[in-house]
Amino acid sequence: MRNFRLVAFVLLVSALFTLSACKNREKGSADITPTPVASSGNNITQKPEPTDVPEVPTPTEAPVKEPVDYSVVQPNEIGEIPIVMFHNFVEDLNSTTDNQYTTSFSAFEELLETLYNEGYRLISMRDFIDHNIDVPAGMKPMVFSFDDGTPGQFSLIEQNGKLVVNPKSAVGIMIKFNEKHPDFGLKGIFYLNMDKEDKTFEGAGTLKERLEILLSYGFEVGNHSWGHFDFSTAQSRQQINEKLGRNEKRLREILDGEKFYSLALPFGSKAPEGLRDAMVKGTFEGVEYHNETIMAVGAQPSMPSIHVNFNPEYVGRIRAQGKVQENYDLTFWLPKMTKERMYISDGDPDTIVVPEGMESKINMDKLNGKTVITYKK
Ligand SMILES: [Zn+2]
Repeated sequence: MRNFRLVAFVLLVSALFTLSACKNREKGSADITPTPVASSGNNITQKPEPTDVPEVPTPTEAPVKEPVDYSVVQPNEIGEIPIVMFHNFVEDLNSTTDNQYTTSFSAFEELLETLYNEGYRLISMRDFIDHNIDVPAGMKPMVFSFDDGTPGQFSLIEQNGKLVVNPKSAVGIMIKFNEKHPDFGLKGIFYLNMDKEDKTFEGAGTLKERLEILLSYGFEVGNHSWGHFDFSTAQSRQQINEKLGRNEKRLREILDGEKFYSLALPFGSKAPEGLRDAMVKGTFEGVEYHNETIMAVGAQPSMPSIHVNFNPEYVGRIRAQGKVQENYDLTFWLPKMTKERMYISDGDPDTIVVPEGMESKINMDKLNGKTVITYKK
């Protein structure tokens, strides 16, 4: 790997990139070649401005950002990103014997405060996959994921004849927290078993109404298989196609045009070696599915998607602490997720800023037009 001091690579963007990144994106095409662009000092490479731009920006232009002092912020945009996994939420932890997978509403509220104060900011799974990370300089991106569509995660209640989000649900708590701290982010992906039908989330409204309201807040849905299938017991490719494709098909029947793009493995179980390709892509009864990330159950922060060693077919997640604290849960990890180890943002989603020497960890084929900038730490 070439070792440049303060060199920026600029990749050409395909015209469709910016707005269509979420649908049917092709992998980096062969005609994209890196062009080194020299920059000086600690300045960010500036985009060329047209010469006739008036001095006073028009209202449609984005406000000019203050340049970030890398020596102060110390961005590391190849560092790790925690993807937190939640299951059940209850009012009173004494009501459950489950030590690992159940959180109380009050503990969840406290957790949001802790994460916010420690500089974590939520991003969506879509943006994690695309490495489209837009959190302020110095902040650390984090993904929330919720498995099994349990009622404590999200439910609706009827208020004056209208369906509203139950304040006694994880989503209700997040909405309230977001009013106080809108910069924390209102994001998260819910991995669903569509065979549960109206048992998904429960409460008021139809499943369609629940999903529509959930998505209207910007939350996402993911595939958790038809019947919570243990993929380690899969016998054939066709069987996997059915477990994933039937779930996908039911989602599309309920919400026309909606697609899953990420799978969380039930029980964290991988399919047997020869059948793994069917976990990523397949077809069932004419419905195609494509899982761009496949989520594990444990037990560590994830590499970002542009890391050379990132494996989209087995992405680590961290279990939120349950009734008791255990090794490798989020409480265990928080003090270990140091500034040196984790992804620290430079505040600009279009640049990948890393300490000098770390650029060798970046998969340059995945930059999608983003600029790499290195700095001396
Ligand atoms: Zn599950």
